[in-house]
Amino acid sequence: VLPGFLLTLAAGAVVVAVVLVTSGSSDDGPAPSTTTPPPATSDEGRPPPHPEATTPLGTPPSVAEDGTYAFRHLQDGTDDPVAWDPCRPIPVVVSSATAPRDADELLDQALGVVAEATGLRFEVEGPTDERPTSDDRPLVQTDRYGDRWAPVLVAWTDPATVPELRGTVGGLGGSAYVTAPDGTQVYVSGSLLLDGPQMEESMRVVGGRDQVRTVLLHELGHVLGLAHVEDRSELMHPEGQPGAATYGPGDRAGLARLGQGPCAPDL
Ligand SMILES: [Zn+2]
Repeated sequence: VLPGFLLTLAAGAVVVAVVLVTSGSSDDGPAPSTTTPPPATSDEGRPPPHPEATTPLGTPPSVAEDGTYAFRHLQDGTDDPVAWDPCRPIPVVVSSATAPRDADELLDQALGVVAEATGLRFEVEGPTDERPTSDDRPLVQTDRYGDRWAPVLVAWTDPATVPELRGTVGGLGGSAYVTAPDGTQVYVSGSLLLDGPQMEESMRVVGGRDQVRTVLLHELGHVLGLAHVEDRSELMHPEGQPGAATYGPGDRAGLARLGQGPCAPDL
């Protein structure tokens, strides 16, 4: 089994892979070391602030501090995570080039689980013609998405298009943050890239659908701001865990904190 991958996208964006275990268990692969690129601090090229609610759209569940979790990025000098703005929906667009059957339903279900675990709201805007790439993804794509932060790109793609998906890597996910005028760092865009053909193949075996769901939830965990942990009872372990088709206690504790970021009306 390949160790996890690390791929730097745009400013502050880090994409981390999950290795899809297709049979049995595996015991190798240290969590990939991660580095935090400097966030974008310049106002240059930023879209204008968009209106948003004055209070969070949802409420994260009250969960016990249990299990193990870690965050991808922390606010400078604190233990508080960089998170998404809870006062506006997180927009999502979908590139379906290699989507397996039931892909939309699987994504909707996974987003529902994440919304419940964080209190964050998602808005699936529909298909996009944006092509997934290993290269830096622009955070603003005015011609395609208007003068705003680019929506989260969920792309069913393949290793020929995104070489980081070669081998047993089933997906890659991560988000980019920028710094608000008050110094708070806030995620504004992200990507979730999936190996469609591998997912399709996985779904042909018994329990395969759960494995695909596991990959989606793991990568959404990265998009929301969770990092890998070495605790095998958590879904954010770097390898897909056979039989673990949903978040563990630490995953849920981390996700609940990620739903409590500050609103960011200036972004
Ligand atoms: Zn991962």
